[in-house]
Amino acid sequence: MLGGSGSVNGLVHIRGQREDFDGWAAQGNPGWGYDDLLPYFCKSEHQVRGADAFHGSGGPLWVSDLSEHHPLCEAFIASAGRLGIAHNPDFNGERQEGAGYFQLTTRRGMRCSPASAYLRPARMRRNLSVITRALARRVLFQGRRAVGVEYETGGEIQVARARREVLLSGGAINSPQLLMLSGIGDAARLARFGIAPVVHLPGVGRNLQDHLQARVVFKATRAITYNDVFNSPLRTLQAGLQWALLRRGPLTVSAGQAGAFVRVMPDAERPDVQFHFITFSADRPGAGLHKFSGFTASVCQLRPASRGHIELVGIDPRSAPRIYANYLSAPGDLEVLREAVRLARRIAHTTPLADLIAEEVSPGAVGNDDAALDAFVRSTAVTIFHPVGTCAMGSGEDAVVDHLLRVRGIESLRVIDASIMPTLVSGNTNAAAVAIGEKGAELVLAAA
Ligand SMILES: Cc1cc2nc3c(=O)[nH]c(=O)nc-3n(C[C@H](O)[C@H](O)[C@H](O)COP(=O)(O)OP(=O)(O)OC[C@H]3O[C@@H](n4cnc5c(N)ncnc54)[C@H](O)[C@@H]3O)c2cc1C
Repeated sequence: MLGGSGSVNGLVHIRGQREDFDGWAAQGNPGWGYDDLLPYFCKSEHQVRGADAFHGSGGPLWVSDLSEHHPLCEAFIASAGRLGIAHNPDFNGERQEGAGYFQLTTRRGMRCSPASAYLRPARMRRNLSVITRALARRVLFQGRRAVGVEYETGGEIQVARARREVLLSGGAINSPQLLMLSGIGDAARLARFGIAPVVHLPGVGRNLQDHLQARVVFKATRAITYNDVFNSPLRTLQAGLQWALLRRGPLTVSAGQAGAFVRVMPDAERPDVQFHFITFSADRPGAGLHKFSGFTASVCQLRPASRGHIELVGIDPRSAPRIYANYLSAPGDLEVLREAVRLARRIAHTTPLADLIAEEVSPGAVGNDDAALDAFVRSTAVTIFHPVGTCAMGSGEDAVVDHLLRVRGIESLRVIDASIMPTLVSGNTNAAAVAIGEKGAELVLAAA
């Protein structure tokens, strides 16, 4: 489909923390601090609450409030409050810390994807051609200058020539794959596949970072969860009608509806964990809903130290590259998730949420000691789908693009997507990816 992951994602709109972007700037990327990026966040959005110092109005990406506040979410926020986690009505405002409701990239109860926000309004432009069912195979070069892209469509190989620049936006898994297939990467690793290096850039595909979530699942005392709605044909029909007639209800919500940004480690100076509080439950994302009245408190460490990488498995562009996520490989990451699970349990034991819980299903019988929680995290934690960092922006030897997003050592080639983030933002990654797109567009225009 068009729109990339933004057309299938969980709709949660979070920018990250000021320090994330200031960290990017400090790593040799002038122009990427929070104050530099704030205008792009604002420009990209149509904030339904209106514009203010932190928000924009009239932009293409609609940012909306949930159409309803579920009693379980209300209870979660209240219980968190009783443990000293203050209510925060705007995670993308002055401070991120606290508990509250997420805002969503929806427009009047419908997904507002990058395709519907940006591409659809531009589709009649004479200088835009969109070719669907096409797979980019490699970037073409004259010497060290990118001059086009080879792609496959309908079983045929075609070439698109670039007069000015080639821009890669294949995402954190595929942009590095395309670079490597095009001869840009670690020369020794490319040689294993017989790929002649155009430029030796050892950082391509390295530095992979992702958010890993541990999911604490509860059974509710009453049939008020979305499991109950979608396991019942009648209630599903009602939800469908509610959506069709009013654009409200269970079919308009995000993967996580309420959330919290909290500090779980004693030395944390800013939130190190994010909660996604979800009014349904499943064994893992994408699996069928549990048959019981379940809901979930998902916790993820915001800035893991573990690093993975992406590797080619061959020279066929249709073969997916291999992802080595290396979750929990760095010392300290497991401890953060362990403490996060403990905090989820403490919130669940606090009224009013405690009054709505019949039992904790997962980890369930597992004790609260370190070994038991570590085993639970290691055996059940899964991705939250936020891979970044594999074409990292910077000035060091491992950097792939410079602060103008130009591939180092190559002319007329930029990468503009989540892969350029040198470090993961402290939150969901779509808003930052869109801001990178906004700023990237300006960089391209400035050079034209
Ligand atoms: C299931 C899921 C849930 C998520 N939930 C959230 C959320 O709630 N909130 C949030 O902020 N973020 C969420 N994210 C993450 C967020 O959507 C991504 O970080 C963001 O969309 C990344 O944008 P991107 O442009 O870097 O890459 P992508 O959106 O992945 O775009 C890459 C595009 O390139 C195309 N492509 C790749 N290789 C080729 C090729 N060789 N030829 C042609 N086309 C190619 C792909 O098909 C895709 O369209 C979620 C992601 C997923 C997958």
